[in-house]
Amino acid sequence: MIKYLLLILLSFTTLSFISQDKIIVVIDAGHGGKDPGNLNKTKGFMVEKDLNLSISKKLGAYITEYLGHQVKVVYSRTTDVFIPLVERVDKANKMNADYFISIHCNASDNPAVHGTETHIHNIKSVKSRELGLQIEKQFKNRAGRNSRGLKLKTDRMFNILVLKDSKMPAILVETGFMTNPTEEAYLNSIRGQDLIASAIFRGFRDYIKVKHNITMQNPGTSTPVTKGPVYKIQIMASTGPVSLKNPSFKSIGKPIEEMKITNATSPYNFKYYVGNFKDKREAKKLLREIQLGSFKDAYLVKFE
Ligand SMILES: [Zn+2]
Repeated sequence: MIKYLLLILLSFTTLSFISQDKIIVVIDAGHGGKDPGNLNKTKGFMVEKDLNLSISKKLGAYITEYLGHQVKVVYSRTTDVFIPLVERVDKANKMNADYFISIHCNASDNPAVHGTETHIHNIKSVKSRELGLQIEKQFKNRAGRNSRGLKLKTDRMFNILVLKDSKMPAILVETGFMTNPTEEAYLNSIRGQDLIASAIFRGFRDYIKVKHNITMQNPGTSTPVTKGPVYKIQIMASTGPVSLKNPSFKSIGKPIEEMKITNATSPYNFKYYVGNFKDKREAKKLLREIQLGSFKDAYLVKFE
């Protein structure tokens, strides 16, 4: 009897040990509440704090879905609240987080400036540097972005508190310039946000896979789609924006993606899509369902 009890006790200890042993990543959506960060340049587009939060949640969802068995995601905020920088760092330090990833959107006086940057504290932050390099590599090679590379304290001439005072490897990702019209539209699109989040996810995954010798969850399932071709179902095109809360959109029961077309010859500036498929047959299946509903003229579009 005692032998069994011991066995049970042992297995409990092992279980709790494993759960405590998870890698903790803090995802820090920059700004929030009374601090909006950079302001939108185009009417109807989001301010920085909202873009940061949306991208952060997508990143957290990818990490939880694919690495959740070994990585625990902690957010510094999940709503539109103001949290002082010191508190964000303290929280990460106190829980002994393993990594700190801060998400931001950039701005410049020159509207031509565009691309991604990953900031680290200084050149001696070896782990932060390696992680940052993996993420910029993903932006450049897989997401087709203009990677402006790693930025150090000496490049920016000022300290970033969340990088300086955090005890764990910490990076701050500037996901694009809100002052560049093309990038502002990209940052505001669901597709753009998905690509940014999955690039950061892939960079993080590749880094920790080697550092922590971890295995992938669900090896049979594919990782998020970052580069084409992908199939989407176009349900509607319009000269002006249509509310995504519109009841016929809601009737589809799936997220609707809005794309703003800036240089098209067509009179339609806004296009609405559903789905994001690698597999054409799966896309066709959903297309048929949608055609039976409110959008009988819906059709398949291939994105390279
Ligand atoms: Zn910012």
